Amino acid sequence: MLSQLALHGGPKTVQKLFPWPIFDEGEVEAVADVVRSGQWGNPDCTGLVEAFEQEFAKYCGAKYAVSCVNGSVSLRLALIVCGLQPGDEVIVPPYTFIATVSTVIEANGVPVFVDIDPETYNLDATKIEAAITSRTKAIIPVHFAGQACDMDAILDIAGRHKLRVIEDAAHAHGAEYKGRKLGTLGDAGSFSFQSSKNLTSGEGGMVITNDPELYRKMASLRNVGRLPEGQWYDHFLPGCNYRLTPMQAVLLSSQLKRLDDQTRRRDDNGLLLNELLSEIEGITPLSRGHGETVHCHHLYIFKYDPAHFNGLPKNEFVDMLAAEGVPCFRGYPHPLYKQPLFQEKFFMCYALPDSVSYADTVCPVAEQACAEEAVWILQHAMLGTAEDMVAFAKAIRKIQTVVRASEKVPKSV
Ligand SMILES: *Cc1c(COP(=O)(O)O)cnc(C)c1O
Repeated sequence: MLSQLALHGGPKTVQKLFPWPIFDEGEVEAVADVVRSGQWGNPDCTGLVEAFEQEFAKYCGAKYAVSCVNGSVSLRLALIVCGLQPGDEVIVPPYTFIATVSTVIEANGVPVFVDIDPETYNLDATKIEAAITSRTKAIIPVHFAGQACDMDAILDIAGRHKLRVIEDAAHAHGAEYKGRKLGTLGDAGSFSFQSSKNLTSGEGGMVITNDPELYRKMASLRNVGRLPEGQWYDHFLPGCNYRLTPMQAVLLSSQLKRLDDQTRRRDDNGLLLNELLSEIEGITPLSRGHGETVHCHHLYIFKYDPAHFNGLPKNEFVDMLAAEGVPCFRGYPHPLYKQPLFQEKFFMCYALPDSVSYADTVCPVAEQACAEEAVWILQHAMLGTAEDMVAFAKAIRKIQTVVRASEKVPKSV
């Protein structure tokens, strides 16, 4: 029976490939024009790069945007200008990419992990207040997978405790909360344009804000501490060269024109998959969350229950599903606090106090998501047709039928 599975030589359910990135001659020409111009650098942060910053700020409905080399540096710039001092605590989720948390350490802060909501896998707003101390300075809600965090609750807590809110919107270009673009709700919103992200130039980042003072400082930090009123070799802030290039800026500008159509497609497909997968025993799509009006599905996440798949462990299920042609992934193997960075701290060149220990940190919901539950379908697959979504559901049913009919299923290695 197992031989019916594509993983074991059977026919593949989904034959189609899902390309990413998507581009045409427009992108090629835009970059070629920059190449021909010979203006490859951008030491003044003006011209094409500034034009894209303004375009992106306008798209989001924010006053200011500062571009930079990636979505980690953008987070760090935001943390620094929010006034983080050595030893200040920042509340973060454990179910996110390392950059959300490593940038806190790089900004000399102390990450404090708060568990995720089992319905959405976003920071559980009901658990934040218990983690606040006199040292807490900021919260980083990550709009994980492109799904809005519970921002009313988070902003309310932040307001009452005088905390800064830096949205990690690396997954969330074009997604909305109560009709407002993610990234515009907190003090600053950070985006990544890394190659897997929904808006990409291979690498790149952006941070948006409505606060002129935060903007001015971030723009300076990104450009070796220069200020517009200063001279070329006047350096006012402890910044570095984190500048985006004009080639990236024009590529992003071309890609931005595609974003709304792509976002709508992913959101529609997400709603359809929610319906299709809810009908399969042992498969539970994440809920649509709190106040979310557009979900851009950088990932489509569902919960997998091995009990309905003859005990088949998640990782084996994901291997089978990938072999059936569904672009999917098992996700993070562990919550971030389990990483050697936090457990061993064998190379700590920042101000993380020795007294800080993550040995006893436990976030049960994140642990369960990593180990047993969470399966990710990747964003480029969410750009498929409605028929493709039907085929994804079919692939899951096929695996279920086959493993249920098998006496023995392969156990985790
Ligand atoms: C990708 C990502 C980042 C960092 O972006 P880079 O551009 O790769 O530095 C930050 N946070 C999250 C949640 C991400 O997925």
